[in-house]
Amino acid sequence: MTLTGKMLIGQQAVAGNREAIRAINPATNAALEPAYHGGNGDHVEQACALAWEAFDVYRETSLADRARFLEAIADNIEALGDELIERAVAETGLPRPRIQGERGRTCGQLRTFARTVRAGEWLDVRVDAAQPERQPLPRPDLRQRHIALGPVAVFGASNFPLAFSVAGGDTASALAAGCPVIVKAHGAHPGTSELVGRAVAQAVKECGLPQGVFSLLYGSGREVGIALVTDPRIKAVGFTGSRSGGIALTQAAQARPEPIPVYAEMSSINPVYLFPAALEARAEALAQGFVTSLTQGAGQFCTNPGLVIAVAGAALERFIDTAATLLSGCAAQTMLTPGIFSAYTSGVGALGEHAHVAATGLAAESPNSGQAHLFVTQASAFLSNDALQAEVFGAASLVVVCSNDAQVRQVTEHLEGQLTATLHLDEADLARARALLPVLERKAGRLLVNGWPTGVEVCDAMVHGGPFPATSDSRSTSVGTAAIQRFLRPVCYQDFPDALLPGALQHGNPLLLRRLLDGQREA
Ligand code: NAP
Repeated sequence: MTLTGKMLIGQQAVAGNREAIRAINPATNAALEPAYHGGNGDHVEQACALAWEAFDVYRETSLADRARFLEAIADNIEALGDELIERAVAETGLPRPRIQGERGRTCGQLRTFARTVRAGEWLDVRVDAAQPERQPLPRPDLRQRHIALGPVAVFGASNFPLAFSVAGGDTASALAAGCPVIVKAHGAHPGTSELVGRAVAQAVKECGLPQGVFSLLYGSGREVGIALVTDPRIKAVGFTGSRSGGIALTQAAQARPEPIPVYAEMSSINPVYLFPAALEARAEALAQGFVTSLTQGAGQFCTNPGLVIAVAGAALERFIDTAATLLSGCAAQTMLTPGIFSAYTSGVGALGEHAHVAATGLAAESPNSGQAHLFVTQASAFLSNDALQAEVFGAASLVVVCSNDAQVRQVTEHLEGQLTATLHLDEADLARARALLPVLERKAGRLLVNGWPTGVEVCDAMVHGGPFPATSDSRSTSVGTAAIQRFLRPVCYQDFPDALLPGALQHGNPLLLRRLLDGQREA
């Protein structure tokens, strides 16, 4: 497929007229063809008009038709074959197996959302039947279902060019909910975005859906991004990226005459707790697991273990020494963009001003290669310097040495909101872990025992979220089937004649849904 360098506004390929965006192969610094000219406010206007026109039709598509659409997107992405893999590798510097795995996850999550749509549980149908004889007042017939919020703006993420970009988790969950989607492509992988965007647009056509169900725009966040977020027809936003970007979009959304929710996933350092018995029993194995998790994908995961917390002692020294030795042998890895590499370099520089460098990985041999870093500091320094808990996006981590359990708790209370918190423990550590758990539940969206936070399963029970700044809305998850909830809202129908009710709420339950009927869940 020849890349055109054009946006997709519904089914139309449209050339932008703003400054050219050209992908850079971060492994070589070579610019890749073609150039993608950014869009402007008129393009946003056209995409929003089409999305609004499509909304009422798309949100009432049958569960089977909508599920089939999601499956068609997955099929079309797979049909792109090697071309997609090669382009994504060239645009991101990520290894081929990683991109292949990510394609599997992307198509897998589209198909998982198709299953979710078909099952219809997300409609959350509740029926409280009329009680005309009730005293002192009769009860009306009340029926609730969930409907789609409206067109959603999705910002593609740089660190998941497939799984959290054009047809990634935000898009899949919004489309599953019945929301048209307008994607603002990430400028780091415009060709990958075009290929996937065309796969989605093709599925729209194959399924006979209104063209405004999907559009793909290129351009600057400050122009196209803000115009999208402030357009009155956009009703929610999905974002993964920097804290400053997420905050700017959240503020723009809140300042609208009609404020809308922004689901921004921003920054997290994912504390890892090494409890004494576990540390004593397996300091070296823990160090091995930690270094593997830290350096995976050049550390460019929102769930990267950027903080280790433990009580001082000989076992912690063993952990630090082993981790330092292993990390010193790790090759530098190509980072996603020159900008992300430069942010990483300043981030490790800032950590180095306040913490001791325990080890650095092997020196870089190619452009934009991030060298792994391990820092150590005392809890007192961590508590008095907030710069030490800033996210450094890449393979850098900080060990915080505490003098006792009380200080572990104090450090934990001091932490900002996190996506994850990990506990390494043995039987003898359970009481300590139990005591810390209430604090961790307040701080993080996912708590893990004896594992590593990188690697996020796409399933029903997953929570990829957490209090600010991990996300802008801790009540939701951006990974897993519960992500659909972000793009829905409840509507109650009172005393409607059956003929006027949506199918999901009709007396005969034609969709065979498991309803909450007069307080009892149907079998
Ligand atoms: P980013 O700078 O936040 O950009 C993400 C998207 O948001 C881009 O489309 C960008 O538009 C837009 N944007 C950014 N700031 C904006 C603003 N003020 N107003 C409107 N739109 C705005 O993220 P990035 O380029 O992926 O990486 C930069 C840094 O973000 C990294 O170094 C890392 O620190 C952090 N990051 C964190 C995670 C995580 O999961 N924790 C993931 C990725 C990145 P443009 O096209 O104009 O840039």
